[in-house]
Amino acid sequence: MAHTLVVRFAEITLKGRNRGLFEQQLIRNVEAHLRPYVAHRLQRGTARLLVEVEDDPHTAIEILRGLPGVANLSLAEFAPREPEPLAEAVLAHVGRQLGARRREASPPSAERPLAFRVVVSRKDKRYPLTSMELAARLGEALLRRFEGLRVDLTHPELTVWVEIWEDRAAIYADKIAGPGGLAVGSSGKVLCLFSGGIDSPVAAYLMMTRGAPVVFLNFHSFPYIGERSKEKVHELARHLARFQPKSRLCVAPFAKTQEAIRDRCPEGLRTVLYRRMMNRVANRLAAREGALALVTGESLGQVASQTLHNIRVIAETAELPVLQPLIGMSKTEIIAIARRIGTYPISIQPYPDCCTLFQPRHPDTHAKPDRAAHFEAALDIEALVEECVASVEVTDYGPLYSPRGWS
Ligand code: ATP
Ligand code: MG
Repeated sequence: MAHTLVVRFAEITLKGRNRGLFEQQLIRNVEAHLRPYVAHRLQRGTARLLVEVEDDPHTAIEILRGLPGVANLSLAEFAPREPEPLAEAVLAHVGRQLGARRREASPPSAERPLAFRVVVSRKDKRYPLTSMELAARLGEALLRRFEGLRVDLTHPELTVWVEIWEDRAAIYADKIAGPGGLAVGSSGKVLCLFSGGIDSPVAAYLMMTRGAPVVFLNFHSFPYIGERSKEKVHELARHLARFQPKSRLCVAPFAKTQEAIRDRCPEGLRTVLYRRMMNRVANRLAAREGALALVTGESLGQVASQTLHNIRVIAETAELPVLQPLIGMSKTEIIAIARRIGTYPISIQPYPDCCTLFQPRHPDTHAKPDRAAHFEAALDIEALVEECVASVEVTDYGPLYSPRGWS
């Protein structure tokens, strides 16, 4: 049996003359993400998209509700717009809903009636009844037909949504929330410094919801740190590939740079100097990838190294703006997002990040620009960056979806 999903666009209506471009981007993304998994047909409407799928709509719903730019979606039934046949269709729709509830433990009854409401919105304002009038008529028809119902507009247990379109009416039981925001590809590209931790995958995701395609860059300290750490970063990149059509993961070997810093610079400055070197490599790769900004997962004061003093000294070596979408968030807020998007269980796998290599016992929390530059003079920065960039391993992932890890 064929099913139709109504996908509503977020924010796009606000974009004035660019609206067409934003909509096209979202439609391209929907197409790209569904193509490998679901036989479907797309039909464009005003500020919405109809997705017709054969068979079980579950997979399509799961994919679509993750896509940036999707405000919400519904599994819809259609009926003629005229009040009589529309009422018949609404009765049949509610009959099925009640049937499903009767199979549950506590079916509605005259003693314990089910609170419901009908919400009508007219996309076509020329319709002869107002939304209120039509909702009242449909509500009355429902009360006449079914026992054990009562109207409650503020705390309904069941909502019947009815939309009057130009050519027909749509009826649905649910609005499934999407992430909102902008479709990936509506903004410029960014390069995210991507550890295997909790924070940077969330930072990358937030940038996607602002429309930015994200390239991932991970630094890996092989042979000090094992293959499992690298596999974990790949797993995170593959997971995030459900939110953007193209995901490129660059893994840069970092051990040699870290050894040089260990041997030639003060212990307390190591973390800051690692990060300054990461930026220098990121500058090159951003140019190669066409990225317009760097993204990191820093949250002010979260750990000893993430003081404003250190963040300032680290940012000095970045040639592009450094975007830090988590800078004002608490760990609790960040973890809540990580759980929602499904990266959390991957991030907490206990495989170390390269920053733990030769970790200082007492990291400097008040790094000074002059001091960092002074000790870096002992490093052959150009050669280290060059070698690191030359040995980057690049992996591309297309749109991926697996049912695991969704909350
Ligand atoms: P995360 O949870 O993202 O690892 P964190 O709380 O562990 O962050 P730090 O280790 O101080 O914080 O790292 C701060 C930021 O530096 C990270 O969010 C990330 O953007 C970048 N970063 C750290 N380690 C790496 C790495 N191995 N590869 C790429 N970027 C990294
Ligand atoms: Mg980390």
